[in-house]
Amino acid sequence: MLQSWPKRCAVYAESLFSVPEGCVCFCDTMCLDILRHKKKVLLLLLLMAIGSIVYYLYTLKLERERDGFVTVTTSRLEHEVKELQAVFESEVIPGLGALGRPARGNWTQEQLEAIATSQRETGYNAWLSKRISPERTLYDMRHRSCKKLEYPLEKLPSVSAVITYHNEEASVLLRTLSSLRSRTPIMLLREIILVDDGSTVVNETLNDFLKIKFLNMVKHSRITTQVGLMHARVVGAEMALADVLVFLDSHVEVTKGWLEPLLDPMMRNNRTCTTPIIDTIDFDNFAYRRGKPSRGFFNWQFNYIQLPLLKEEAVAMPAPHQNPIMNGGLFAIGREWFFELGGYDKGLKIWGAEQIELSLKLWLCGGQILEVPCSRIGHLYRDGNFKIRYTDKNSNSEKKIISRNYRRVAEVWLDEFKDKLFANLPHLTVISAGNLAEQRELKKRLHCKPFQWFLDNLAQDFLHLYPIIDPGEYASGVIQSVSSPKLCLDRSDTQKRRPKLSPCSSDQVFPQPEQHWILTSRRELRSGNLCLEVRNQGLEVHLYECHGQSGNQFWSYDSKTRQVISGQMSNSRNCLEAQPDTNGLTSRACDPKNTKQKWKLGYQNDEKLLHFWDNVKTK
Ligand code: UDP
Ligand code: MN
Repeated sequence: MLQSWPKRCAVYAESLFSVPEGCVCFCDTMCLDILRHKKKVLLLLLLMAIGSIVYYLYTLKLERERDGFVTVTTSRLEHEVKELQAVFESEVIPGLGALGRPARGNWTQEQLEAIATSQRETGYNAWLSKRISPERTLYDMRHRSCKKLEYPLEKLPSVSAVITYHNEEASVLLRTLSSLRSRTPIMLLREIILVDDGSTVVNETLNDFLKIKFLNMVKHSRITTQVGLMHARVVGAEMALADVLVFLDSHVEVTKGWLEPLLDPMMRNNRTCTTPIIDTIDFDNFAYRRGKPSRGFFNWQFNYIQLPLLKEEAVAMPAPHQNPIMNGGLFAIGREWFFELGGYDKGLKIWGAEQIELSLKLWLCGGQILEVPCSRIGHLYRDGNFKIRYTDKNSNSEKKIISRNYRRVAEVWLDEFKDKLFANLPHLTVISAGNLAEQRELKKRLHCKPFQWFLDNLAQDFLHLYPIIDPGEYASGVIQSVSSPKLCLDRSDTQKRRPKLSPCSSDQVFPQPEQHWILTSRRELRSGNLCLEVRNQGLEVHLYECHGQSGNQFWSYDSKTRQVISGQMSNSRNCLEAQPDTNGLTSRACDPKNTKQKWKLGYQNDEKLLHFWDNVKTK
């Protein structure tokens, strides 16, 4: 084809390019121009080639420099991580406490002293915690059917975990955060919001370490003056971006698969608040122990109590079941729903009754609380004798603040049943509840139901155990030693939380409050809000808030032998024994001949005592 083209140009001999023989070059004016200036063009091309090479070499150099820079910064970061890790994790003993087993060792005398000091300061064995890996493994305690459940992760909402803390030990806080990061599907955990509620010592090194270890997953905020749990939580919730808030204490360990089952019920009803089963982390050896599923409640003194599941709920285990009152520490709730409910009542301070307020609000104003047995979280319960200290700028005592909280919640949510509470806690009636207008307005706005609805729908078992009208008590007044008749049981030494013997009040039936004991219809020995309880295999007698759960607070009186006896089951009973030499008390194997084990009660209802063991399980 080409060969047939006419020769329109005769300059191809001088062409820049070799032209195959017989080819025809169609040259227009531009082509001719190029051919005329071929030297200049060659030069231009040469310059372009050199330019490209120089540019290429330059970019190569830049890249090398950047690589070098990255290597330097990475190694600096690694160095920093190592340095900070050494501060917080260098004492970790590999394998200690792994799988949630009790962390034990042959500690020296010096180490044992350090343990005792740390327990006094924090309410748990902080010395040991430092030696347990923040990433320790935990045994999977879930019901076997929970392990088979699958959840569509892409359909579940993501969460903001809100954790407030006051003077929490670094190692404990680290373990909380590490467990969260490693046992939560990353696509569901949008952020961890940490609110330091006025810790007295700010640990900058820890803050730096958290920044490096958890990068931008952790948002940290500090309130300079301690405001208490509820306010601090609301501050955290206001920072949250995810659709669901998960409130956690700063001393927990979440377990495998903890989050998905908590979120699942919210997909069906977004006014659902969910709670996990709370397992126990032992304050002494960090053993991880199984907690029981339960229905939470409050008793008529506003103490949190746990009741067993209803029969049909127990049969349906591990399906989620209704939880009338949440424990308060750990729960998940839709962010919008939480704020629609007004968060926590802003008039509640420090702590006390906040979980009752939120739970009642949830149920009465159109929501629900479900306990989800497939979700388990371990909580480090402190030694019962330890309490976090609160500093109140108006120098109100903690007791006064808690009483005010109780009164607020009772006034707003209990309707006429508040009188039942006031009968048990008469001091509440003389305490001001503050302004309740906002709470009453919220109740109206959300068309919340009366408390009677709660009793009718959620409290059948509760009313059976904690009736509105108390059945009479078995006995009351002094508990007088028969071997040392001048001495009576006295609870006034509450600092040590041990009862003692002191000279008897002149009035044996209506003695001073410290010697006034009641063998209640719940078969506990109560004085004020304290109950006698046995510990250490039933051999030590202590005083503790009445928990209403029988167990170590179960007592009976044998009018024939005059023994005061601890324990419900017939094979685990012991007798209260006077120790007149020290004015102390112990609990020993019962011996009807031992007069130190004999007691006279101020008043005893003989008729009722005859039926004491009716319908009580003893084997
Ligand atoms: N907390 C707080 N501010 C306070 C007291 C407590 O932020 O003034 C935190 C505390 O560090 C913990 C949570 O609130 O993370 C619950 O408190 P605590 O564990 O003492 O309550 P408990 O579990 O004993 O009921
Ligand atoms: Mn706690």
